[in-house]
Amino acid sequence: MSIAQNLTAIRADLPKEVSLVAVSKTKPVGDLMEAYDAGQRIFGENKIQEMVDKHNQMPKDIQWHMIGHVQRNKVKYMAGFVDLIHAVDSLRLLIEINKQAQKHERKIQCLLQIKIAEEDSKFGLDFESARKLLDSEDYKNMEHVEVIGLMGMATFTEDMTVVEKEFKYLKQCYDHIKSDGNNLDALSMGMSGDYKLAIKNGSNMVRIGSHIFGARNY
Ligand SMILES: *Cc1c(COP(=O)(O)O)cnc(C)c1O
Repeated sequence: MSIAQNLTAIRADLPKEVSLVAVSKTKPVGDLMEAYDAGQRIFGENKIQEMVDKHNQMPKDIQWHMIGHVQRNKVKYMAGFVDLIHAVDSLRLLIEINKQAQKHERKIQCLLQIKIAEEDSKFGLDFESARKLLDSEDYKNMEHVEVIGLMGMATFTEDMTVVEKEFKYLKQCYDHIKSDGNNLDALSMGMSGDYKLAIKNGSNMVRIGSHIFGARNY
């Protein structure tokens, strides 16, 4: 199947309130252009330099999402154009994003990454730290960032009962933080192997790579 056919098949499955982030990390611009020509406008990358290079080469109506772990000293390279940063996991990072966005007179939308997997290797905030961050004076005084939702990555396992439990937990965190009075509307969860389960459990933003572009060679 071609990239365009893969996209068509996936879109046919997605409820209309679910947005599709085409995860194009490691893939050449030619592959991204194939998706673009098939109507895809949201692309997700996990390395800032790679996203900058692709942004420079591609049409300007693309929305670029940074889905990977972000180092503070690299925020400046993407602050002029990035549309959504998925994996904010500290107040210090948010402060840096705010500072760099200000230089471009922009407001950058962000998601807080919540740690939902059991593996130690996954980044993210715990639920209480996320609430505290949103409740802090530091955050309330930021004029150039806006946290619009949460993101999570489930444990890498074939055991879908574990994955589902983690998705349900993230949805609970999301509902709880909303009921605190925060204006959230994006819940980013689900990848190629588990996006249907994620949507069933409340996701409205899925990040799909290999099902669109094929397996990655690192
Ligand atoms: C690579 C990646 C994805 C996409 O993974 P696939 O299994 O190829 O769909 C989604 N989210 C994040 C954070 C990723 O790094």
